[in-house]
Amino acid sequence: MKKMTSKKRLLCMLLCVIMAVIAVGCQKPVETASEAFKAGVYTASVAGHNADIKVEVEVSTEAILGVKILEHKESPGISDPAIERIPKAIVDSQSLAVDAISGATITSKAIVAAVTEALKQAGADIDALNVKKEGSKNAGETKEYTTDVVVIGGGGAGLAAAVSAHQNGAEVIVLEKMPRLGGNTILSGGAFNAVDPKRQKAQGIEDSTDKHYTQTFEGGDKLGNPELIRVFVDNAYPAIEWLESLGMKFNDEVFTVLGGLWPRAHKPSTPLGTGFIDTYQAYVDANKGIDIMLDTEVTELIMENGKVVGIKATGLEGEVIIKANNGVVIASGGFGANVEMRDQYNKSWPALTQIKTTNHPGATGDGLAMAKNVGANLIGLDNIQLLPMGDPATGSLSGNIEQGVENRIFVNKSGNRFVDEGARRDVMTKALMEQEDAYMWVVLDKHSYPTGDKKNNFNETIDELIAQGRAFKGDTLEDLAKQIGVDPANLVKAVEDFNKAVDAGGPDAFGRTLFADKIDTAPYYAGARVPTVHHTMGGIEINTSAQVMDVNGKVIPGLYAAGEVTGGIHGSNRLGGNALADIAVFGRIAGESAALGK
Ligand code: ADP
Repeated sequence: MKKMTSKKRLLCMLLCVIMAVIAVGCQKPVETASEAFKAGVYTASVAGHNADIKVEVEVSTEAILGVKILEHKESPGISDPAIERIPKAIVDSQSLAVDAISGATITSKAIVAAVTEALKQAGADIDALNVKKEGSKNAGETKEYTTDVVVIGGGGAGLAAAVSAHQNGAEVIVLEKMPRLGGNTILSGGAFNAVDPKRQKAQGIEDSTDKHYTQTFEGGDKLGNPELIRVFVDNAYPAIEWLESLGMKFNDEVFTVLGGLWPRAHKPSTPLGTGFIDTYQAYVDANKGIDIMLDTEVTELIMENGKVVGIKATGLEGEVIIKANNGVVIASGGFGANVEMRDQYNKSWPALTQIKTTNHPGATGDGLAMAKNVGANLIGLDNIQLLPMGDPATGSLSGNIEQGVENRIFVNKSGNRFVDEGARRDVMTKALMEQEDAYMWVVLDKHSYPTGDKKNNFNETIDELIAQGRAFKGDTLEDLAKQIGVDPANLVKAVEDFNKAVDAGGPDAFGRTLFADKIDTAPYYAGARVPTVHHTMGGIEINTSAQVMDVNGKVIPGLYAAGEVTGGIHGSNRLGGNALADIAVFGRIAGESAALGK
């Protein structure tokens, strides 16, 4: 046997030392300072906008492998972009410092908070994960496109315009600044006023387009444009038939919506305003020729030789310029979520700065500024609508327990009625503002909720609302009064007087004329409500073809507008149920006019 040389021996010893170090290293416990997480699957729940959001997070020792939302009750449509994008953004960036999705901030933050809780269980260094990574955003490139009709805004009016323009032979691009379609339309209770030869007749309700005209005109203090109102009432039912032809379903029964003054409101068969948006989306999916660009905010109209010929916008990847061969439709909605504009134009209300809104955060009045820059005439901007129906915590309409006007009353903090609950929206809200803390309870009974699973107009069951502490239920009126902290004797008397008026058929001491059932059958329910900013009646002046008028009363060629961004139909006060009808009627007209270059 050959003897080892001293050099070889040294090498051998070194090898042994290295192996020993590796072996010791392998025996170390799994957790080491260099490992980011304890590998495994963790769950956590955090309160979201409506209820708890439960997430599941899977990690290896080095990385976040997956984030799943296991349970949530966030509002459909509105929270969807956050539910889809936030988990992916956390995994892609391996970070908790991800941007909230505009329009779904509370949901976004709740998801991040729940993932944070789960990662704490995994022993993560949360501070390190909250350090913002360098973004790879925005190459700063300008993209240019040409189409026939450009539509600014993907709410109810914009999508109606897009579908109608397409049906009239145009190629269309819709630009929507938020990460989702739907605007305020998708948040609404869905009520759509139309004089209906079939449904109203079946319920024995007398109505006519003249009555709808008069109530709309007088309900807005005769400030609306009679020609526009006539086109509106005449085309409301054809718009329902048009939506039905596109596949939308409405319930058979019509009802009176808050401030609607008459039972002519149609309720879509799917929750809130989702039916409208889903219907238009289905048309877009089934037909070539309508492109929708989300996350793309239009900033400017392009004018050439006195005609609007396109738009400039900013998207996630830079500037977008679109040339429109035939026309541009502004359908960017109102300014209810823009506190500065509200304060600037408000004349009829006490300061609105602190009042919450039912609106989505994108309702900032962008279209008004753009239109003004090309000479459009803006009218009636001081006509801002409030509702007495805001959720005290958020200002939103969700949690509203009323099913229709006829079967419920409002009482103040003392348990007394204070207004005709079938009156105009401004009348009811002004009366509410005079009550203690501008706070009221909607009170109704089993007639509105035969079972606990019956849903309100916002897709919430009464049992869910009770569990969330947003509604209360009592076996007697006294029991209910105690739970909500109002004087039981006053509440009992208020209901007794109301029931007498139901028997008499009204009008009662408050002038109320709309009645159906008495409030006399347990269980009794109550839900709290406060004033909230809802709609801006003023806006861009249009003619009956939805062409935009300039300050000299002349049409601005190439420019059209529809929906809440326009003024001239609702005067000082919009009837409940008239907005969804207005945006469908004039969205449809604007799309056709733009396609045909009228
Ligand atoms: P309407 O009832 O008139 O259709 P909505 O509020 O339902 O009004 O829809 C208006 C839509 O326009 C919203 O989805 C809003 O985010 C979008 N929007 C507002 N400003 C802009 C803008 N500058 N660029 C693109 N979209 C916009």
